[in-house]
Amino acid sequence: MNAYETINLCQPNGEKSCCACCGLFNFRDISRENLSRFLDGGASRSSSLIATGHITDQGDGHVIRDKTSYICPHQGLIYNKRPGCLLHPHYRNSSMRNDSFFGEKICSGFLCPAHTRLTTEHKKTIIELVDDWYFYSVAIIDPDSTIWLLQLLHDRYPIALQRESAVRKIITECLTVHSSHLAVYPGPIFFYSESEYNVSKENFSILSNNIDQEQNEIIAVIEKNL
Ligand code: SF4
Ligand code: SF4
Repeated sequence: MNAYETINLCQPNGEKSCCACCGLFNFRDISRENLSRFLDGGASRSSSLIATGHITDQGDGHVIRDKTSYICPHQGLIYNKRPGCLLHPHYRNSSMRNDSFFGEKICSGFLCPAHTRLTTEHKKTIIELVDDWYFYSVAIIDPDSTIWLLQLLHDRYPIALQRESAVRKIITECLTVHSSHLAVYPGPIFFYSESEYNVSKENFSILSNNIDQEQNEIIAVIEKNL
């Protein structure tokens, strides 16, 4: 584990959290409305599957992005209506995740590429400035786009970083732009390993040469809010 991994990106505080590695962003429809509806149904879905002993893939029957990946039924809304694991030892018997698809060891130990891509400063910045779970998750699943945005602010618009209310608004609006581009792209947008992410990110990352239009949209958002 390197130094950057010591910051918890999964549940950094009571305001926001992420469930991307549980498969949340594998639905083709990654709109806030669709993902919120799925999370909202988590408690009853999880309880009924526990009763039957099933570990049904929630991707079955839905249009999904990565057919080789699993969407866990035990994702739901935890305290403060943020995403989380309904089988987490905080809420359930400590061994209950052993019966889930991934099992306790993977569920509790996995760290996504954002943990190594983002520097400590990047992590602190998004934790401090992004309180909305949906936009926070977007910042996590495509860390190189997050880095591009933070670097752009640092290099070209340092004044924005000195005004907290302005930079909060800017980052939220920029992540809104990026989420709308991710929503249009039909393929996988979350990857479990850095090597997979490196190969595929050119399809959706802001750094891609094909996404000049998105870069321009983001610059317009920043300049409008300065
Ligand atoms: S995708 Fe990353 S930040 Fe999100 S819950 Fe999984 S390991 Fe944590
Ligand atoms: S059981 Fe594992 S994969 Fe399922 S919601 Fe919990 S942490 Fe995520």
